[in-house]
Amino acid sequence: AKDNGRAQAMVFSEEMHRKASSRLDLDSQLARALDKDELRVYYQPIVEVSTEDVVGFEALVRWVHPQRGLILPIEFIPVAEETGMIIPIGEWVLRQSLAQAQKWRTEAPGAEDLSISVNLSTLQLQDPDFLGVVEDALTQTGLDPMALHLEITETMVMNDVEAAMGTLHGLRSLGVRLSIDDFGTGYAALSYLSRLPVQTIKIDQSFVKGLGGDDPHASSIVDAIVSLARALDLDVIAEGVESAEQLRELRRIGSRLAQGFLWSRPLAPEEIPEWLGAPSG
Ligand code: C2E
Ligand code: CA
Ligand code: CA
Ligand code: CA
Repeated sequence: AKDNGRAQAMVFSEEMHRKASSRLDLDSQLARALDKDELRVYYQPIVEVSTEDVVGFEALVRWVHPQRGLILPIEFIPVAEETGMIIPIGEWVLRQSLAQAQKWRTEAPGAEDLSISVNLSTLQLQDPDFLGVVEDALTQTGLDPMALHLEITETMVMNDVEAAMGTLHGLRSLGVRLSIDDFGTGYAALSYLSRLPVQTIKIDQSFVKGLGGDDPHASSIVDAIVSLARALDLDVIAEGVESAEQLRELRRIGSRLAQGFLWSRPLAPEEIPEWLGAPSG
């Protein structure tokens, strides 16, 4: 039994070593991924619940690794945040997304009002250069600032409320719109919500998942968030909608917007014109 324990301990430490060194690899490879043109922005449609018309897209970054293939953000965004690479990566995603949105708005028929939502990380919000980067990206691309929605989480703001507030108000004076992502999963007091200069709440997928199932609480929670949004005069997006039953519940509850695999997974930019042109239903 003793030997067995020792063998297990050895296997365990080899496993840990393997994990640690593969993370180390990822660090240094991520630092070069931008220059080597290995990052891609995918776009997921956001639709109006009543009509299922597309109103915009959320930009979601992917890493096409030469050996490992497609790597999702859950694996490399935390690494990028640890190493600080999220600053240049985030700036690249922003510039890429704005250019893409402006191209659709000016070239695709019926797409002139599409919005583009871009996720931010805490480090970007704390970066003194960030406001300037956003302003420059808007000028360079010519995108209407009102078409840009930046997504933040409650937790990001709570780290350093005063600094974050300064940046958020600066963004608002550029005309940019702000959304609270993953709403309901953070631990911000509700009183903060009315102080934050945001226009949209995104209801976290964990609440949407239970809609139309046998858990009556799921509907009550989504209903409460939609009522809260209405009371505060905020727009609302339900995330992670996968089924017709969930859509039916969202219609009943009155969420204005939704996003999820029911309409589309995140798409490569070259897939979008065809997707936009496809007749709905
Ligand atoms: P998020 O901002 O909450 O993005 C929504 C995630 O849910 C995306 O995962 C999307 O592909 C996925 N999703 C959309 N519809 C459905 C659905 O119907 N069912 C299910 N099960 N999932 C759905 P993804 O692209 O893997 O991104 C994960 C997270 O990584 C994002 O969560 C966001 O926090 C972060 N992220 C992605 N791109 C960026 C970026 O450019 N910058 C930063 N800072 N974070 C990013
Ligand atoms: Ca998001
Ligand atoms: Ca989310
Ligand atoms: Ca998230």
